[in-house]
Amino acid sequence: MASRRRFTLSLSRLAAYVPLMDLRIKFWETVPLGEMTEPEWEALCDGCGKCCLNKLEDIDTGELIFTRVACRLFDDTTCRCANYAERKRLVPECVVLTPETLDEIAYWMPQTCAYRRLHEGRSLPDWHPLVTGDPLSTHVAGVSMQGKTLSEQGLDVEEWEDYPLDCGDQS
Ligand code: SF4
Ligand code: SF4
Repeated sequence: MASRRRFTLSLSRLAAYVPLMDLRIKFWETVPLGEMTEPEWEALCDGCGKCCLNKLEDIDTGELIFTRVACRLFDDTTCRCANYAERKRLVPECVVLTPETLDEIAYWMPQTCAYRRLHEGRSLPDWHPLVTGDPLSTHVAGVSMQGKTLSEQGLDVEEWEDYPLDCGDQS
């Protein structure tokens, strides 16, 4: 069996709803990622939860397997991290996304991810909470992982590939 490494990603997920008054009007259309304020950076996250799913990477071929096995701190009902403030201590492998690390890891983030989209010069989708003004619009659009995951707790890493992510959720 090919050697595989596991990784999960924590991006700047919506740890709390960001007050819209802290954001410049349509900042995502005019402000470069590296020049956004912290609240603006946080508000970019659509809350889909896909970055908190485990991926397997074949270290020989680079093949990626996306699974619906979620990090032990992932709350499947809200699609949020259960302890965002302490996540690096509790889950050391959690990778924090910053403007500096984005270039290196964007390739395995979902195509829908706002950070990846802006990084690639694309716009935000119509269902993004910043566009709709509704913090739940990602779930309403069916784009999030709400109710679709299972926890890594109690599963061996070898079992993860038995739970691949549906093709529709990989984009
Ligand atoms: S993948 Fe989804 S939850 Fe993760 S950072 Fe991107 S938009 Fe946020
Ligand atoms: S520690 Fe939190 S933010 Fe990091 S991968 Fe797990 S659930 Fe996501």
